[in-house]
Amino acid sequence: MDKQSPGAGIELYGDHLVLDLMNTVMTVDGNKVERWESDAEVLAWLRGALDPAVELPAHAAPGSLAAARLLREQLRALVMAHKDGGAPDLALLNGLLERAPRQLLVREKDGAARLGRRFAGEPHDALLAPVVEAAAHLLTEERFERVKRCENPACTLWFLDRSKSQQRRWCSMALCGNRHKVSSFRKRKAAA
Ligand SMILES: [Zn+2]
Repeated sequence: MDKQSPGAGIELYGDHLVLDLMNTVMTVDGNKVERWESDAEVLAWLRGALDPAVELPAHAAPGSLAAARLLREQLRALVMAHKDGGAPDLALLNGLLERAPRQLLVREKDGAARLGRRFAGEPHDALLAPVVEAAAHLLTEERFERVKRCENPACTLWFLDRSKSQQRRWCSMALCGNRHKVSSFRKRKAAA
């Protein structure tokens, strides 16, 4: 895997912000590959992964990397527990949602009302708030059986199966699907 910086051209296989975030640490040929090594890389990744309409700060606040990595593992634990049939930990998600900026109406100088955000937490909480909101949606609104882990046992990537047939099995054909096709072809050939 090339070590290009995230942002433009990042590969996203998750088809959902939260699963893409979980996939920022992955195992390739038995080696752990970490896509985030600095606060700036977290911000660049969010720029590439979020809807362009979401406003992001020009610079990542100190502590963004640690906060993003912690959130990633908290969400991974939530998704995996829910996938195993457990109820999501509402206290954890609610704690995260409480630190996200709230919407409120503010009065402009000319008297007009404008929708703004009030913000009480740390700057990196604001940065990660769109991910926390997406996690709340994923755990409540999506049909969770569509949240899948790639069927390659050596692959750690997750995705949301948005296909009509819901038969998606691989993070991507290029990474794991073709590998599987080749190995089952070899097995058939060896058995013949
Ligand atoms: Zn895979």
